[in-house]
Amino acid sequence: MVVGCSPGDLKRASPRYREGILFVSWHGVGDGFSGSFQVAVMTSLLPERQDIADRLLAWAHDHLRDLPWRRARSSYQVWVSEVMLQQTRVTTVVPYFDRWMRRFPTIHALAAASLDDVLKAWEGLGYYARARNLHKAARQIVREHGGHLPADRDELLKLPGIGPYTAGAILSIAFGRDEPVLDGNVRRVLCRVFNIREDPHRSAVQRHLWSLARALLPPGRAGEFNQAMMDLGATVCTVRGPDCAHCPLADVCEAAHLGIQSQRPVSSRRPRIPHYEVTAAVIWRDGQVLITRRPYDRMLGGLWEFPGGKREPGESLVACLEREIREELGIEIIVDGPLPPVKHTYSHFRITLYPFHCRIRSGSPQSLECADWRWVTLDQFSHFAFSAADLRIIANLCASQEESHA
Ligand code: SF4
Repeated sequence: MVVGCSPGDLKRASPRYREGILFVSWHGVGDGFSGSFQVAVMTSLLPERQDIADRLLAWAHDHLRDLPWRRARSSYQVWVSEVMLQQTRVTTVVPYFDRWMRRFPTIHALAAASLDDVLKAWEGLGYYARARNLHKAARQIVREHGGHLPADRDELLKLPGIGPYTAGAILSIAFGRDEPVLDGNVRRVLCRVFNIREDPHRSAVQRHLWSLARALLPPGRAGEFNQAMMDLGATVCTVRGPDCAHCPLADVCEAAHLGIQSQRPVSSRRPRIPHYEVTAAVIWRDGQVLITRRPYDRMLGGLWEFPGGKREPGESLVACLEREIREELGIEIIVDGPLPPVKHTYSHFRITLYPFHCRIRSGSPQSLECADWRWVTLDQFSHFAFSAADLRIIANLCASQEESHA
C-alpha cells in the first residue's frame, strides 16, 4: 500500500526526487515497513541531503537572524528561548527574553525564584504551563545535575516541558550534537521540498518527517543547519506567501516545481473553535478588591484572577456570578454595575468575559475552588501575575478610577 503517491506519480517524478518520494511513501505504510528497507532508502538520499545542506548553510551565512539568544549560545539561553518561542512570534519573545535574562540570569537564579516571580516575568506571554515547567525543571536541574543542563537526550526528556523538539534544539545548537529539530517552520519546509501529501500532524507522517530531518543533517553542523531551516520557514517559506524566487531550495523543491506550494503542508479541516460566556466578580471592600489564585493543576494554574466562571445554558449573567462565587469562595454577593466586557481567544476556545462590580452580602472568603485569595488595592495589582484577559479588566478598572478622580 502506498500512501504518499501512486506508482504513476513515481514514473512521472524526475529521477532526483524518486528516492524522496519512495521514502515518504514507504513510511506511510506505518506498521508495515522494515528497518532494513528504511536504511537502504535513507542511503539513497545522501546526494540530495548534501545538496540541501550546502544550499541552506550558504544561505544561512548571510540570512540567519541576529537574535539575542544566538549571541551567547549558552544551553540555558537556548532552552529558555525555545520554550518562549513555542506558539509565540519572535518579535513578541525578544523583550520577554531580555527581561527574563536580567531577572533570572542563571538556572540557579531561576530555581531560587518564587513561582509568583516567575509567573510575573511571564505575564502576557500566554501558555503559562511553559513558565511553570521552566521553573520546575530548573529546580530539578539544580537538584540532579548541579545546575547544568544535561547534554544527553534521555536526561533532557526527563525534565518537565522538554519534548523531542526542545531537546533537539538544545543538543544541536548549544552542545553541537547531530540531533534534528522539527517545529512548525521545519515541518512546512520539509512538506514542500519533499511534497508530502499527507497531513503532517498524523503520527506516521510525523515519524517520516523526523527521519527526513535527521537524514538531512550535515555531520558536525546540525546546530547551524537546524537554525537555518527554522529561519527559512519563518522568513522565506512562510505559511501564506512562500518567496520561492529568493529561496535557496527552489531548485530542489518538489512543491515549487509542481506549483503547489500553497497546498503543502496538507491540513485537515480544523474543528470550529467553541465560544463561552464567562463572568468575573470585582468584589469591593473598603477600597480593596478580592482576587483569587487559580488552582495549580488547571489551565493558567497559579495565576491570579477575578473570581467567576462559565455561564450555564439558560442562566443569567448575574445568577451565574452568584453561583460561581458561592462555589469558589463560600460567600454570597450583591452584584452591582457591569464593567466593559472583554473578548479573548485561547488556542482551543474563545471567551467573552463579563465583569461586574460586586459587594459581599454575607460570609467570609474560603479557598473552596481556588488555591488562595487576597484583598488588594488597585496599586498592588502589579505585584501579582494575571492572564491577558484579566489585565484588560484591570486596565478598565484603573481607567474608570482615574476618570472618577478627574
Ligand atoms: S522553493 Fe518555495 S515552497 Fe519550496 S522551500 Fe523554498 S520557499 Fe518553500
